[in-house]
Amino acid sequence: MGEFELIARYFKRPTTRAAVGPGDDCAVLAPRAGMQLAVSCDMLVEGRHFLSTVDAQRLGHKALAVNLSDLAACGAEPLAFTLALALPRVDPAWLAGFSSGLHALAERHGCELVGGDTTAGPLNVCITVFGEVPVGAALLRSGARPGDAVWVSHAAGGGLGDARLALEVFRGLVALSGDAFERVRRIMEMPEPRVALGMALRGVASAAIDVSDGLLGDLSHLLRRSGVGCRLHTEHVPRSADLAAQPQALQRLCTLAGGDDYELVFTAPEAAREQVLAAARDVGVAVTAIGRVEVEPGLRLVDAHGVALDNDWQSFDHFRT
Ligand code: ADP
Ligand code: MG
Repeated sequence: MGEFELIARYFKRPTTRAAVGPGDDCAVLAPRAGMQLAVSCDMLVEGRHFLSTVDAQRLGHKALAVNLSDLAACGAEPLAFTLALALPRVDPAWLAGFSSGLHALAERHGCELVGGDTTAGPLNVCITVFGEVPVGAALLRSGARPGDAVWVSHAAGGGLGDARLALEVFRGLVALSGDAFERVRRIMEMPEPRVALGMALRGVASAAIDVSDGLLGDLSHLLRRSGVGCRLHTEHVPRSADLAAQPQALQRLCTLAGGDDYELVFTAPEAAREQVLAAARDVGVAVTAIGRVEVEPGLRLVDAHGVALDNDWQSFDHFRT
């Protein structure tokens, strides 16, 4: 199978929202009047972001999910995406799985594959997403104000840190029952981007970011961009029953610095509390208040008894040794 047959077989799908889809030199997008384009790009590298043994269908899902999560954090509605793919070899079974996971998530969000690039090389998946947001309505990191509540999204009955818990099992550092492992592994491999919540939070949240590298690190980015700080109640951070059954130090590592959560952490004025809860209820996602924005820069952590904790968790950084 050659390059063009491969593209036609696995990646070309009819498009309806794009003015020009795949097959030409450029795709042409047609955002609706009064809308701005929100654009984001994320790359997944084998051995860095995923294990070589990961199921191809789940990888297809995750590659798009991490990009849709960035649109969610901006309150943007998915429109289209491009796919740059390097493959060590043509493996029809792998391509069938990867493309089915990718297209299934894309269809659920009305996000059309409009082009890309396909080459031979070490396995690498790079997606660029394009979303629409009403002019001036994009949620930014910079809008948090002193007195705002800090919220985090999560699945009902779930929380932050399950993806990290799965990683610790893969590393052989934690043992879980078979059922619990399959559940947290699925969360790590198939995150659900909070697109509908992000859109529902337009005009309600004052600032937002998605949690990809760990709650404390990503929240710190938001606080710095807003020129504020916050007090965060570590034991208010939601967690699943499986994680809550682990030693406290592991719970804190996973919830506060776990990474790969793809939840939204956002701020909103106290007066918007009911609107936040209504937005979350409307889209079927849980949200929990975990702290409060303060004037003084920095993150101050307090435990269940109000006792200050040192913040010595490091969030993920590709180049820190
Ligand atoms: P160019 O020579 O302009 O770089 P290519 O020959 O690389 O174009 O690709 C041919 C067409 O197929 C282009 O429209 C491109 O956007 C599309 N394409 C290439 N790879 C992919 C892919 N993985 N998924 C979707 N479309 C793709
Ligand atoms: Mg090309």
